[in-house]
Amino acid sequence: MSRKIVQGYRTFAPAGGTGGLGAVLVAGALAAGTTFAQPPAPFVDSGTLDPEIPTPESVIGHAVGATAVRYDPLVKYLNALADASDLVTLTPYARSHEGRTLYYLTITSPANHARLQAIKADNAKLADPRTLRNAAEADRIVETLPGVAWMAYAIHGDELSSTDAAMQVAYQLAAGTDAATRTLRERLVIHIDPLMNPDGRERYLAQLQTLQGKVENPDYQAMQHGGLWSAGRGNHYLFDLNRDWLMQVHPETRGRAEAILAWNPHLVVDSHEMGGLDTYLFDPPREPINIHLAPRTLEWRRRFSGDQAAAFDRHGWSYYTREWYEEWYPGYTNAWAGMIGAIGILYEQAAVNAASIKQATGRTLTYREAVHHHVVSSMANLTSLANNRRAVLSDYLADRRWAVSGEGPSTGTFLLPPAADRAKQARFVELLGRQGLELTIAEAVIEATGVIDMWGNRRETATFEPGTLVIESAQPQRRLLHAILGFDPHMTDAFLTEERTELESRRSSRIYDTTAWNLPMAYGLEGYWAEGVDGVRGAPPQPEPDRPDVDLGPPPAYGYLIDGRDSDVYRALVVLLESDCKPRVADKPFSIADHAYERGTVLLRRHENPESLPRILRGIAGDLNIDVRPVDTALSEKGPDLGGQRFHLLHPPRVAIASQWPVATTSFGSTWYLFDQRIGLRVSPVNVQRLGAIDLRKYNVLVLPHVWSPGLLGGVLDESTVKRIKRWVEAGGTLVALGGAAAFVADEQRDLSGVRLKRNVLDELAVYEEAVERERAAREITVDPATVWSRPGTSSPQAEADDDADDEADATGEKPKPPASDSDSEALKRADEWHRLFAPQGAFVTATLDPEHWLSFGLPERVPVLIGGGFAYMSRYPVRTPVRLADEDHLRLSGLLWPEARQRLADTAYATVESVGRGQIVLIASDPFFRGYLEGSGRLLLNAVILGPGMGTSQPVPW
Ligand SMILES: [Zn+2]
Repeated sequence: MSRKIVQGYRTFAPAGGTGGLGAVLVAGALAAGTTFAQPPAPFVDSGTLDPEIPTPESVIGHAVGATAVRYDPLVKYLNALADASDLVTLTPYARSHEGRTLYYLTITSPANHARLQAIKADNAKLADPRTLRNAAEADRIVETLPGVAWMAYAIHGDELSSTDAAMQVAYQLAAGTDAATRTLRERLVIHIDPLMNPDGRERYLAQLQTLQGKVENPDYQAMQHGGLWSAGRGNHYLFDLNRDWLMQVHPETRGRAEAILAWNPHLVVDSHEMGGLDTYLFDPPREPINIHLAPRTLEWRRRFSGDQAAAFDRHGWSYYTREWYEEWYPGYTNAWAGMIGAIGILYEQAAVNAASIKQATGRTLTYREAVHHHVVSSMANLTSLANNRRAVLSDYLADRRWAVSGEGPSTGTFLLPPAADRAKQARFVELLGRQGLELTIAEAVIEATGVIDMWGNRRETATFEPGTLVIESAQPQRRLLHAILGFDPHMTDAFLTEERTELESRRSSRIYDTTAWNLPMAYGLEGYWAEGVDGVRGAPPQPEPDRPDVDLGPPPAYGYLIDGRDSDVYRALVVLLESDCKPRVADKPFSIADHAYERGTVLLRRHENPESLPRILRGIAGDLNIDVRPVDTALSEKGPDLGGQRFHLLHPPRVAIASQWPVATTSFGSTWYLFDQRIGLRVSPVNVQRLGAIDLRKYNVLVLPHVWSPGLLGGVLDESTVKRIKRWVEAGGTLVALGGAAAFVADEQRDLSGVRLKRNVLDELAVYEEAVERERAAREITVDPATVWSRPGTSSPQAEADDDADDEADATGEKPKPPASDSDSEALKRADEWHRLFAPQGAFVTATLDPEHWLSFGLPERVPVLIGGGFAYMSRYPVRTPVRLADEDHLRLSGLLWPEARQRLADTAYATVESVGRGQIVLIASDPFFRGYLEGSGRLLLNAVILGPGMGTSQPVPW
């Protein structure tokens, strides 16, 4: 019914009026003051409004839904609302990378406002029932406490309608004088987080503004509806904030999580947009659903969804539920909210991009309609919470009572012994604190029973040293704890069958995101889970004390050593290189002055470095988690002496990172973030489409982040550009390619690399198998001297050795196979194609490292790596393979990995290094710093870029 009215209401003000073309063309906007030609259907059906409360239009200059509101007018309106109404307060909670403040509004009745802190405190008691005095207090709170709602909008900056809806919802809740709105204010405390990703939205709206023409165009494919690379989904560093809840890398998430955990909301709504030709999707999700979501919470989601459906039916609008949206990954806004006990609801509106879109029937969907749908959804969800307040609170309390009890399921204790990389461990502990988890650092030895480590090994008992991080299950955030730390959650058997059917019969998948994510594996920390631990004594972790004045003593006679296992060493190296220091890195372990040093230790010889070296090091040691030790001699007790050739001079990395289409935005973003934010290295993002034209001599490292398909990269890097890159490598450059870009580089046609995609060498698999055997044997050398020194006339050990080798090959069946015949070859091809169908979509697998290779420095001998996609890499001498995936039996650690994928990926290369002329190529099979939290494999990328130019290339001696 409303459709007829709203169609064609858009009017454009004549150009040149207020503020010129820019003001007219704000993303298809109406000029300031423009209103709709015909009054469209009201956002909220009935009701009266307080005229003293400013309407959005009176502040932002256009009607809600006429176009997308920009950040500055939005903030102006939020302030105006808080100023004009004693029902509304405005709280800043974070500051984005680009310096924009993020706010939430709190709207509730004057009586609730007067006791807001008491409400917060009472709710905190429900959230932690150990703090309730008695059952009577619990009853009192459940009877009287308003429901707490957190309404979150536009985490994806290019999903515009959510923020405009938030503004309208806020206005309605503040201005409504009708009984329905008053009831919402009385029964609820409503927080509105209107714009979760202001940097993304502003970037996107600026793009749409520049792409907008004079004539309105509802073609959804026109650029004014889609923007440019990287559009607006991600934040400043192009991270998807709707995946960031687990890792909390960004200030937007950190501030928001802190506010949400302080408020303990019972309802969290997360409002999105999807493809423009679609309708409207909302809760509940379809399988797989995370096993740690409380069944009661899911039941509430179904009921809220039923109310929302009824609200849509009143308008006759189209919608659907339980289709493409699954909830296995617990790091989406509403999924994470579910893990903290809230009814977490998601919705998706067909994107209209601030203008209007012609849909498949030819009907035009307007921006205002999109906004309207979100407003109706939000009001329906709030009404559901108000109507069921008491029952929802009662269930919430019951769930938290279970959480703090010792009862199952999800019991046991997580244990993480102190790591050699203290900086990484400190970041991990800080993150768990941000997640609201209760942590203990053990003061004494812990005896544990029924222990399983994250590699899958089980033992009856184990002891853990003092300093071990202990996280017990009986705590308020038990669900979240198990969801983010649990090593290997299993999908249901029914879902596995469903997924298998989808793969085999339709060649598609039901899985929407990564199937593995747990934090111990991501951080590459040794994680354990124990059924029982005895008498843990200890205290919560304390923040690291400031160490402004680190005393390194008087300048030593010879130099300084820095332990390379701490990942803060990269930040130290950046400072040193920028201060014209000459750090060297050891490629062998050694002992000096009664202290043992690993490979990767940094040496600074005093005579090679500026006079100011002691002062520079004092500053670094004060700021960072690193261990600096003075040494007075170059003579080692064990291993190489400090004046020799085992200490390689590093060369300052001059880094270009390929950006722009077809580079995957998030892979570029996480790489850029790693070097720019994490370690403070100056890097140049360069346009990948211009690699054929730019002066590559300025750089000694070029990083190609992941691309979704190597063919896309082939579309922008033509033959002559590839030749150019090869010449640059030959002259001493380090080319680092990740994921799909590695597949591009490994393609034989490029003539760049000796690494091959498995699909291209199916006839030679035996040769590669042999190479893997030799590589493994080389790490466990045993020499039989009798064989070496045998002479004619003595017995013939040579012959014996041959016999042994034959026996072994027969026994294991791993003797090199004869070359495949043509028909074999076709069969292999078909089998490989079939196996590729089962490629993982994000699973943790074991990678084994060559500890002698510099790419592995600072890492243990095995790390979990997250892999996805259909590429498997084959490598053999002279290509070095510092990181190789484990054999079939030891491969899968977490997430869905079908047996076919296991077989296909076993023993393949994860990271390779090969010399090309004076330079080198480093390939890494997936994005090793995915989502900015793979602190284990992320070090491979740091080593490649920071150590690479010094360790793996030949640079000229200065003139
Ligand atoms: Zn979205």
